[in-house]
Amino acid sequence: MIIDTLITARWIIPVEPDGVTLEHHALAIDRGRIADLLPTTEALVKYQPRRIERLEHHVLIPGLVNAHTHAAMTLLRGVADDLPLMQWLQEHIWPLEQKWIGEAFVRDGVQLAMAEMIRGGITCFNDMYFFPEVVAREAVRAGMRAAVGMIVVDFPTAWAADADEYLRKGLALRDDYRHEPLIATVFAPHAPYTVSDEPLARIRTWSEELDCPVHIHLHETADEIHRSGQQYGMRPLKRLDQLGLVGPHLIGVHMTQLEDGEIARLAEAGASVVHCPESNLKLASGFCPAAKLLAAGVNVALGTDGAASNNDLDLLGEARTAALLAKAVANDATALPAHQALRMATLNGAAALGLAVETGSLTIGKSADVVAIGLEHIESLPIYNPVSDLVYAAGRQQVTDVWVAGRQLLKKRDLLTLDAAEIREKTQIWHDKLIHHS
Ligand SMILES: [Zn+2]
Repeated sequence: MIIDTLITARWIIPVEPDGVTLEHHALAIDRGRIADLLPTTEALVKYQPRRIERLEHHVLIPGLVNAHTHAAMTLLRGVADDLPLMQWLQEHIWPLEQKWIGEAFVRDGVQLAMAEMIRGGITCFNDMYFFPEVVAREAVRAGMRAAVGMIVVDFPTAWAADADEYLRKGLALRDDYRHEPLIATVFAPHAPYTVSDEPLARIRTWSEELDCPVHIHLHETADEIHRSGQQYGMRPLKRLDQLGLVGPHLIGVHMTQLEDGEIARLAEAGASVVHCPESNLKLASGFCPAAKLLAAGVNVALGTDGAASNNDLDLLGEARTAALLAKAVANDATALPAHQALRMATLNGAAALGLAVETGSLTIGKSADVVAIGLEHIESLPIYNPVSDLVYAAGRQQVTDVWVAGRQLLKKRDLLTLDAAEIREKTQIWHDKLIHHS
């Protein structure tokens, strides 16, 4: 049978079914989808591929899903560090954004972010930022999958004047991209402390009507909980629950402040949590009880958050940090084992975004979103268990090749759809502007 591409690999970790590592298997790709997954010896008899990739020292995994980021903020990487969240936002990030944000900033920032993410094995990102139509356009150009946030805040920015305009522009974007398979749209009210009840209630109605997730920063810090108590007389999750937003569409990002009753409520509601361990560590926001959430049956995905608060978009690194941190927080070395961390970085992210039928595992019929990682390096040897190596020893520098919907975006670490030299130049220009005018 003639197919587009056959990738043979030393190991394949499909993520679904859970905990399986296949040896000397091959992935057959045709018309952008996974057509077959079978032993290499059988594949070479059964298929006549137009292209064949032989990856003798590599492990193939599903593309990583970065379930929370602000891609354009990559231009602010390292601009202000070592500060608590509100001071960092109010004194540094928000003033810079006020001054510089526009289409050009978002275009150049997203290109830089996508170049980094593709080289780190990320094939899909869930973005929350202004000018989301620029994010969608650039993602399609680069061939990356994205869930683009229909952002809402109460205050005016260069993109919109008030909640009405944010929502109107977001819904127009959703309409423009409804036939583009790489782009999903997700409601993205920034946080309970930046969006008031009225727009949140409208988002709830739209979310139900359109069967569309709602992506929001939630219970990020103790200070947020305290202020919510003063302003609304209740914790933010309770407030969202009263507004009808706590359900299967909810994607709560951070969730470092959780009581047992709240964990049970999230599980009962079928909500998702995006754990961003490195952002939480760097801003001293607190510790998400990831192991407790998983044990309760909550879908927990992983995100890098923006590069300004991390400072990298390294989801493989995030999986490692999540696995290590969960053990410390639970005081239990068996908490969050490696295979679970990999599932959080792939399938759980896809599930949170409503994209699990399309991506998140190497399953026949799904889109061919695939990452190859070389494990022949000194730093990875010996390989007793490739999943353990990926999570606890390997680095994103070992990612060699990346495909999204069967299209190759990275080949032997070279970007095929983005111009690395041009991205470097433009980034330098932004650096020079920001450093002189910040
Ligand atoms: Zn964030």
